[in-house]
Amino acid sequence: MTTIGVLALQGAFREHIRSVEASGAAVVTVKRKEQLDMIDGLIIPGGESTTMRRLIDKYEFLEPIRAFADAGKPVFGTCAGLILLASEIDGSYDVHLGVMDMSVRRNAFGRQRESFEADLDIEGVAEGYNAVFIRAPYIERVGKNTKVLASYDGHIVAAQEGHLLACSFHPELTDDHRLTEHFVKMVEKSKQTLAS
Ligand code: GLN
Repeated sequence: MTTIGVLALQGAFREHIRSVEASGAAVVTVKRKEQLDMIDGLIIPGGESTTMRRLIDKYEFLEPIRAFADAGKPVFGTCAGLILLASEIDGSYDVHLGVMDMSVRRNAFGRQRESFEADLDIEGVAEGYNAVFIRAPYIERVGKNTKVLASYDGHIVAAQEGHLLACSFHPELTDDHRLTEHFVKMVEKSKQTLAS
C-alpha cells in the first residue's frame, strides 16, 4: 500500500492525516527523521514557516527531507509548507529546503484579507474547488519546469514541478479531498517508477 507521511512538528498536521486517510492511502505521523524511510511521499503542512524551520533544525530534518526529495520521492507543501519548499522567499536567498524552483511572497494577500475562501479551477485536478486561504503566501515566479496549476486574483496559488506539489491554501480543511487525491496518485506513480 502507498504510505504518505505528514510532517507533524507544528501546524495543521492532524487535518492532513484525516485527508490522506479519506484519499485511501496509509498515513504515518512523522516526528522523527528515521520515519522518512517508511514513507513513499511527504506532506509538509501549513502553520508558521519560521517556527517549523526551527523545529526542522532541532529534529535534524533539513538534509533528510532534501535527500528524500532529491531521490525523486514526492513532497507536497501547503501554505507554510510551500514556503519551506521554495527556492526563493520574498526576493531574498534565506531559503529553507529550497528544493522547488519558485519564488514566493509570504503573507502576500495583505492584512485586510488575512483569511478568505475562493473558488478555484486547479488544472487537471479539480474545477470549482473551495480553497481556504489563511495568511497565505503566493508564488511570484515559477521556474521553467514548474507548471502553474491555479491562480487567484492574478497570483499563482498552486504549482507542480515533477514530483513536487505546492499550494498557498489549506486543502486539508474541507471535505474536498481532490488535491490530496492528486498527490496520492503522484506518489503511486513515483513508487512504480522508482521500483522499476
Ligand atoms: N504566513 C505563514 C508563514 O509565513 C503561513 C500561513 C499558513 O500556513 N497558514 O509561515
